[in-house]
Amino acid sequence: MKRKGILFIVSAPSGSGKTTLCNKLVDSLKGLNRSISMTTRPPRPGERDGIDYIFIEKEEFLKRKKKNEFLEWAKVFDEYYGTPKKYIKHLVTKGQDVVLNIDVQGTMKIRRAKSVNSVCIFVLPPSMSELQGRLRDRSTDTKKEIAKRIRIAKKEVSYLPRYDYVVINNVLDSALENLRSIVIAERCRIERR
Ligand code: 5GP
Repeated sequence: MKRKGILFIVSAPSGSGKTTLCNKLVDSLKGLNRSISMTTRPPRPGERDGIDYIFIEKEEFLKRKKKNEFLEWAKVFDEYYGTPKKYIKHLVTKGQDVVLNIDVQGTMKIRRAKSVNSVCIFVLPPSMSELQGRLRDRSTDTKKEIAKRIRIAKKEVSYLPRYDYVVINNVLDSALENLRSIVIAERCRIERR
């Protein structure tokens, strides 16, 4: 019984630990691939071009956007982020599933388009104060930047009712187990066959 691939969209406030979670999720299940977004933001220390993101100039991004090369795109924290369409379509046609780590604006765009099978998951930090602490510990952002990220996080959480699932990232292993369960169950749905 063949089926088309599913897009597992994971959104979370910045600093919720979703990157680690998504990477572990992809590594733990067969047939699950990670989408690599393009962004105009500069790489953070330790981030690798073509692995964490594809880092491009704003001019190049806008050119690609005009050519309709993105499945979705959004402006987050004054930088552009987009999901390259071609690679995703290729995987989904082959029955491969893809994990997209994108913000709420991008998720709503994919939801509205209805052209692809998607499952939307929201990852929450245990609390806002915990999130603040995690952003501070990461020490890649300035105080002003952290305050801005917290403001945006509160706005993002208001989109929670439009998602299919919520996972609280308190203990990494249990959050991962919840994510894995969602993927496994969604793959078994009869309507997808
Ligand atoms: P960061 O700069 O912290 O890596 O990511 C900032 C925000 O942009 C996060 O919420 C992340 O999920 C989101 N993001 C990353 N890639 C994409 C993308 O391709 N599309 C959209 N809409 N958001 C993205």
